[in-house]
Amino acid sequence: MSVVPFLDLRAAYLELKAEIDAAVARVLDSGWYILGQELEAFEAEYAAYCGAQHCVGVANGLDALHLALLAMEVGPGDEVIVPSNTYIATWLAVSQCGAVPVPVEPDLATYNIDPQRIEAAITPRTKVILPVHLYGQPVDLDPILAIAQRHGLRVLEDAAQAHGARYKGQRIGAHGDAVAWSFYPGKNLGAMGDAGAVTTNDPELADRIRVLRNYGSRVKYVNELQGWNSRLDPLQAAILRVKLTHLDEWNERRRKLAALYLRELSNSGLGLPHVPDWAEPVWHLFVVRHPRRDDFQQRLAQAGIQTLIHYPIPPHGQAAYAGLGIAPGTLPIAERLAAEVLSLPIGPHLSDSDALTIVGAVKKC
Ligand SMILES: *Cc1c(COP(=O)(O)O)cnc(C)c1O
Repeated sequence: MSVVPFLDLRAAYLELKAEIDAAVARVLDSGWYILGQELEAFEAEYAAYCGAQHCVGVANGLDALHLALLAMEVGPGDEVIVPSNTYIATWLAVSQCGAVPVPVEPDLATYNIDPQRIEAAITPRTKVILPVHLYGQPVDLDPILAIAQRHGLRVLEDAAQAHGARYKGQRIGAHGDAVAWSFYPGKNLGAMGDAGAVTTNDPELADRIRVLRNYGSRVKYVNELQGWNSRLDPLQAAILRVKLTHLDEWNERRRKLAALYLRELSNSGLGLPHVPDWAEPVWHLFVVRHPRRDDFQQRLAQAGIQTLIHYPIPPHGQAAYAGLGIAPGTLPIAERLAAEVLSLPIGPHLSDSDALTIVGAVKKC
């Protein structure tokens, strides 16, 4: 039996091997391995791609979120509104500032934070709203930005899964006060190791994050504050520059596969993703829902189809967050999604014939 892998990262490398090898060789040959020109070039190119004025490269997506929150002066005693259903990094960034993540349930149609539930979660301690463009689908930003403005809050977007996605025609990258990115290898724009960035139109935020990522230092051996070591590696920056030139084409391949799945599975009885008419998702994941998900996943595995669950345990159910004391049943939508969601393979290197094999197996299972 042939196996359809969930994601083929080696195929992504092989397609761009000549370009990537040349970029890596250029950095090795330069003799310059921390910060510098290669990183600055990527930052300028990624800012331009996102339609943002500034981009600051950092070591990973979690640090992008954490340093952006610190730059917004989030600290102990503060609250940050987060989705109840997200990867745990969104919550960890808040906790790392000494602040408290306050979960808000998603809209069951789009899986993204429900703007209509946000105001009820705001308290005098709330500092920031942190929506996530989950699975590559943009959040409904306009109502969130309006709420933030009414209450004097900042908006930090977690766009770790949404490189190239558009909201009302405009790429994600500068709608909120700042936008955090991960370039983890499996993301739509992925490095070959850890990497991340923050984009923003706010020069003050960009400047603070630049200082925070580099030991709190602007001038070598002069430290304005107690910062971190969280710099985007020039080798990774060089690889990301190559991959950025292919991002739109690779997102287009994902879009075609998603259209195929939506067409072929429309009568399958599965819960399928809903795309609002203002959204142009980039299909980081193609997530379906099944009431007996674990059985369904097992049958697909027996048919040679690898699937994953994003995510099997919501952050409030993790031992890491037992201290918040959020009882089971308190966030029923997040808990239901954790029990029902399943991600089918999707990626720029999944062939149409593999996608049709998956469709056939899904219908049978
Ligand atoms: C991947 C991811 C992160 C964290 O990124 P890392 O680079 O792995 O630290 C944060 N938020 C979301 C939604 C993610 O998918």
